[in-house]
Amino acid sequence: MANRDLLVLNYHSIMGVDSDPLINKNIYRTEKELEQDILFLKNEYHFVSLSDITEHKLNGKKLPPHSVFLTFDDGLAVNYRKIRPILLKHNIPAAFFINPFFVDNKDLHYQRKKNLIACTVLPDEVDRERGLWISLFKKYGINADNFHDALSAVGYNNSNILDELASLFNVNIEQYLNEHQVYLTSQQIEQMISEGFWFGGHSMDHPKYDDITLQEQINQTMHSVDWVKNRFGLRYSIFAFPSRDHKVSMQLFEEIKPKTELTFGVIGMGHDIIQSHVQRIGVESSGVPIRVALKLEYLKYVVHSYLGRKVYIRSGEVKHRYITTLNVRRA
Ligand SMILES: [Zn+2]
Repeated sequence: MANRDLLVLNYHSIMGVDSDPLINKNIYRTEKELEQDILFLKNEYHFVSLSDITEHKLNGKKLPPHSVFLTFDDGLAVNYRKIRPILLKHNIPAAFFINPFFVDNKDLHYQRKKNLIACTVLPDEVDRERGLWISLFKKYGINADNFHDALSAVGYNNSNILDELASLFNVNIEQYLNEHQVYLTSQQIEQMISEGFWFGGHSMDHPKYDDITLQEQINQTMHSVDWVKNRFGLRYSIFAFPSRDHKVSMQLFEEIKPKTELTFGVIGMGHDIIQSHVQRIGVESSGVPIRVALKLEYLKYVVHSYLGRKVYIRSGEVKHRYITTLNVRRA
């Protein structure tokens, strides 16, 4: 991995263990495969701590060659039940990024609500309530003739419709949350912190940042960072974007900088224009062994470097000093 002093990998879940059958169609690592990833990394790389990365990014401290760090997004209960034991067994440091609205199973992400409705509502109920759901979707700006097409068109900004649809079709989200532990509990997070794992914000309720205004992005970011820090008495503050962050403006980074030491993206291998922003690579859905997944990422990186896309370009007023020291071209 020439030119790379630090490899940061991102994971979410484990294959086939979710209570949502549609999410179970996603490719993740099995427990065995995650352990194989870790054994490979242990052999080829040097695991570092969050403070090593902070010191490296903010103060230029050198990292050992081939440094690696693992992160896990979305605060799913599977992180405690299935992933934590593997990390502890191999003594692997890791950071977890969570959404305050979902901690303790208080609510369900809007995509999971969509899946729950899609999987629960029967075709004859859809036929019976046709007039009602058509006018409900219309109220939220969605014109569709087919129930499932209309449902899939629901995004973060009109996701309030999902609670109304749930009550129209007697889909009991509260009961679902009582019967299925989707997210980590505060107690599990406290235990993991005492075991040496790090926690950070991942926005309040996981919108796509492209779908919300700059002010909402700032609120989502800062409130989640502050919540995690205060709720668990942490002395550091970290944040991972809940969606691809290549369009996030410089202004957002300027706003959050005073209160967030490090931020993490998911764009892949490459150096970000923001010094305190660490790009991560997702290998869990690659369906190939980590050795191959990393080679493919590296190839992508080489091609992008060749095309002048080594540094991620951000919109907004560019104030950052690094832009003047690097040969930045429009990606
Ligand atoms: Zn996420």
